[in-house]
Amino acid sequence: MPSDPPSPFGQRRYHAWNEHVKARHGGRVQKVSIDAGFTCPNRDGLVGTGGCTFCNNASFTPGYLNRRQSITEQIAAGLAFLQRRYPGTPHFIAYFQSYSNTYGEFERLRACYQEALAHPQISGLAIGTRPDCLPDAVLDYLALLAREHIIELEIGVESCNDAALARVNRGHDFAASVDAIERAAARGLEVTAHLMLGLPGESRASMLDGARQLSALPIRALKLHQLQLVRGTALARQWQRDRASVALLDEQTCIELLADFIERLSPAILLQRIGSEVPPSQKLAPHWNLRLSELAPRLSAELERRGSWQGCRYRALTAELKQP
Ligand code: SF4
Repeated sequence: MPSDPPSPFGQRRYHAWNEHVKARHGGRVQKVSIDAGFTCPNRDGLVGTGGCTFCNNASFTPGYLNRRQSITEQIAAGLAFLQRRYPGTPHFIAYFQSYSNTYGEFERLRACYQEALAHPQISGLAIGTRPDCLPDAVLDYLALLAREHIIELEIGVESCNDAALARVNRGHDFAASVDAIERAAARGLEVTAHLMLGLPGESRASMLDGARQLSALPIRALKLHQLQLVRGTALARQWQRDRASVALLDEQTCIELLADFIERLSPAILLQRIGSEVPPSQKLAPHWNLRLSELAPRLSAELERRGSWQGCRYRALTAELKQP
């Protein structure tokens, strides 16, 4: 069992994105959020209407962002804010964060990305999107940009469980994520997958199986989010009608689930996020007695208590699966 050899990731006990990035780029890489005015096929009717039941883009939009401004103006506003907050940051990349940022005419996408890259202080792009919005032509173009710039492709997988994806009206299945990730990685693109823990329709077993399924894919990094109920979402309205109909993770259960998940996750996958925090004015539930900044040390303490670390159960799991 996982007590010997010692953690290959030091005291943190998991493969942390920030440390990897600092070593690779010689310092912090800070994301400047951009809202380029895209929408989402799960909102405009192409795939569905109403969107994913947990989604309200306002909940993760920073205060400095104004979608009425041009991309260049948004970058200037974002840099002014972030340079005050993180003085000495050597690299900034433009983060196309709101909605699905590869959903649009190719020429429009190209113009948006080029406008961001033309800013003298922008070293690359992070592009958030859905797996069903990544045609080969867009991936080919991003791979071309990646020859000269930092390019992070962030794909919303959200769950590896088709029943849970259907319950939250996601509008695509897990096979769509596998397909997009494999086509992106085949072009040399570095993929960060987003996964939501605690969606309706998930069980502890299905979420832990997600660690196994993601470990089998060519993803570079993972952003984990715990389910939070955001005002204005279908899921929040459902919870207000019937609180028992949406199970929410309390902080201790979430930390234990994260530890279980990370133990089963390939040690090669970097953890870019282990949780998220919706602004209090927008969040209905759950209300934790724990700030996001406290989650990482609490997770490391839990892993230390267990004598475990990221991937310590990964090989055993792989070996078990290979047995006839
Ligand atoms: S989470 Fe993403 S895919 Fe789902 S509705 Fe919101 S923007 Fe669209």
